[in-house]
Amino acid sequence: MIVEMKKGASKEQVDHVIERAKSLGFDVQLNLGTEKIVVAILGTDTGRASTDVFAVLPGVETVTRIMKPYKLVSREFKSQDTTVNVGGIKIGGHQVVVMAGPCAVESEEQLMEAARSVKEAGALILRGGAFKPRTSPFAFQGLGLPGLRMLAKVKAETGMAIITEVVDPKDVEMVAQYSDILQVGTRNMQNFALLKEIGRSQHPALLKRGFSATVAEWLTAADYLLAEGNQKVILCERGIRTFETSARFSLDISSIPVIKDASHLPVVVDPSHAAGHHKLVPSLAKAAIAAGADGLIIEVHPNPEEALVDGLQSLTPIAFARLMTELKTLARAVGRYI
Ligand code: PEP
Ligand code: MN
Repeated sequence: MIVEMKKGASKEQVDHVIERAKSLGFDVQLNLGTEKIVVAILGTDTGRASTDVFAVLPGVETVTRIMKPYKLVSREFKSQDTTVNVGGIKIGGHQVVVMAGPCAVESEEQLMEAARSVKEAGALILRGGAFKPRTSPFAFQGLGLPGLRMLAKVKAETGMAIITEVVDPKDVEMVAQYSDILQVGTRNMQNFALLKEIGRSQHPALLKRGFSATVAEWLTAADYLLAEGNQKVILCERGIRTFETSARFSLDISSIPVIKDASHLPVVVDPSHAAGHHKLVPSLAKAAIAAGADGLIIEVHPNPEEALVDGLQSLTPIAFARLMTELKTLARAVGRYI
C-alpha cells in the first residue's frame, strides 16, 4: 500500500502513519521526495488492512494499493527517476554511461591495456570479472582476490571507476572494497541471500536480468536490494532465452521502455552477452540507446583471439573506438550525450 502525504505534512503526521503501520505488523519504507513524502506499507498481508485505516490519519493525501508484485522499485512509490551516483558519474541522468572492458581479468597487462583503450574511446567505467559464474565447474572461474587487486591497481593508474561481479554473499564486503559497482550476474538474479547482503552493503549495484526471468520477476528481485535500504540500484538487460538460436540470447529491447514506465530505476544494456558475437554488438548497442537505455556495458579485449572467456563476443579496441564515435552521434540524436 502506498500512502502519499499532503504537501507540507508535518513530521509528527508522518510518524503517526509509520506507528500505525507498525502496530498492524507491517514494515515501512519512506520516499522523502522534494515535493512530498510517500510511505510504502509493506508486508505479506497488506490486503487485510483497509486503505481507510490510513486514509483517516491527519496529513494523508491518498492511499493506494500497489497491485503489482514489485513495490519499492515502482513508479507508484517514487515517480521521479533515480540517478545512481558512482564517484561523480551519474547513471540515469542525461549522460549515457558506457562501461567497457574484458569479460574476465586475466593479467595486469591485459587489464591495463583494455582500460587505457576504452578510456581513450570515452568509456567511464571499467568492467572485468574476477569471480566468473561459469556454466561448467571446469571452465575458468576467474582470478579471485588477485584479480580484484589488479582492478584496484588499474583504477589507481587510470582513474576509472570499476564494476565487477560478486557471486558469493560471503564476498560482498570484500568485493565492495575494490569495486565501485557490484555486478549481479544473470545466473544470480534470484540469489536472494546475495541480494540481501548487497542490499545491506548500501553499495551501488547492477542487477542483470535472469535469462529466463520476466520483467516483473526481475523488478521484484530488485525490490530485495531496496528493501534493505539500498537505493543505488541499476538494472541491466542482457538478453533472454527464446526459441531463436541465431544469437546467443535474444535482446529484449522492449524491456527498456517497459521498465522506464514501470520503475524509477536506471536501466543499462549489455549487448555483448545478448549477441554472443562481436559482429552483432554495434547494432544492439545502437538499438539500446535509441530505445532509451541509460548506459551500456560492453566487452572489449586487447586481443580477443587470446581471451580466456567470451572472446567471440569481445570487441577489439579499434572496433570499440569506432562504435563509440557512432554512439556519440546517436546519443545526440535522442537528446543525450556520451
Ligand atoms: C559477464 O558480464 O561477464 C557475465 C557473466 O554476464 P551475464 O551474467 O549476463 O552472463
Ligand atoms: Mn562475459
